[in-house]
Amino acid sequence: MTFRPKKHQILGLLPRSVVQTHGPRRGTARFLSFDDGPHPEHTPRLLDVLAQHGARASFFVVGRHAEQHPAIVRRIVEEGHLLGNHSYSHQHFGRLGTDDQVAELERADQVLAAFDRRSRHRIRTPQGHVSLPLLGYFAGARRSLAYWCYDSLDYQHGDAASVSARLRHLPPAPGDIVLMHDDGPCAAAALAELLPIWREAGWTFAALEQDASCA
Ligand SMILES: [Zn+2]
Repeated sequence: MTFRPKKHQILGLLPRSVVQTHGPRRGTARFLSFDDGPHPEHTPRLLDVLAQHGARASFFVVGRHAEQHPAIVRRIVEEGHLLGNHSYSHQHFGRLGTDDQVAELERADQVLAAFDRRSRHRIRTPQGHVSLPLLGYFAGARRSLAYWCYDSLDYQHGDAASVSARLRHLPPAPGDIVLMHDDGPCAAAALAELLPIWREAGWTFAALEQDASCA
């Protein structure tokens, strides 16, 4: 598997206002992003590592997990990370109709609004699902899908040493949005090793920007 799949190259051709696959390429910032949390053990550990190295990131949380672990979500917001919407219950979007997909996203927005007082949040769909009707919804609602261009494959490797070795071997470029997960221990362990090296090299780590409609 290549780390820049063709699907992402095609998505990269769509306007930034509908699908975002990377951040600004000029500068030193990389955009770490974490899906599927918050997790009661792994997310706080990851937040500690990010804080220790002055790194900001984006957390695409599952609404029902946010309801279960509100203190962790508050920490994500207080520590300057982007709080993103990864649907309410993380169902397989390919098996839902568009109305049900939108209902999942809007229900998660309502849960997250209690934490950051925004009625809308950046969205990353479960499994990165994209369809034409869903893109139509994004365009009509002036929302954009927060995709990624660098897949850490942390969910495939299952151990931090392999994830960290791969990230060292194929380092993310300026502007890359890096996909990782915080429902397991890999991301925190790999980043505890990599962030000191990357910070030393002058890299910075930023949260994604809100959409104009995310008021
Ligand atoms: Zn997910």
